[in-house]
Amino acid sequence: MSRKKRDRRHRRDELQDLDPYLGCPSDAQLGLDPLAIGWLRRGQSFDTGSVPEEFAPALLVFCLDRHTVCARPGSLPCPLCGERVEPIEIDGETAHFGVAEIRVLGREEIFAAPTLVHHYVTVHDYRPPDIFVRAVLQGPAPGSPEHRALVRTLNGA
Ligand SMILES: [Zn+2]
Repeated sequence: MSRKKRDRRHRRDELQDLDPYLGCPSDAQLGLDPLAIGWLRRGQSFDTGSVPEEFAPALLVFCLDRHTVCARPGSLPCPLCGERVEPIEIDGETAHFGVAEIRVLGREEIFAAPTLVHHYVTVHDYRPPDIFVRAVLQGPAPGSPEHRALVRTLNGA
């Protein structure tokens, strides 16, 4: 039995998981639209449930500032609880939330998520699609040559 319930009658301004993500102009350089993950709005329904234990820690590494793309000026609070999410430090590096986006490489696709996705998973029980969970756990890690190249391209460096 599937826990997934995709309600296609969503509001037009809602971005559903795996919709094409067009929010960051530099993605146009890649010639393929990344797939949206976790662009949640207040009042939007989303899948919840457990993810593998190692998922959130792996996702956090993608959120470290040096691995993020498409940063915007200022930071946004969590749209679900209205809180500003405190930065997290690991091994002397910092992840700020609500400022930039992450990119995760799948087998044939690129996923685009806000850094707040880590907060959605850890605090709001958000459960992203399996294909994204797999890509985070098994795809090129942040800091790998493939991921670094992608980040560099999108940041225009
Ligand atoms: Zn929140």
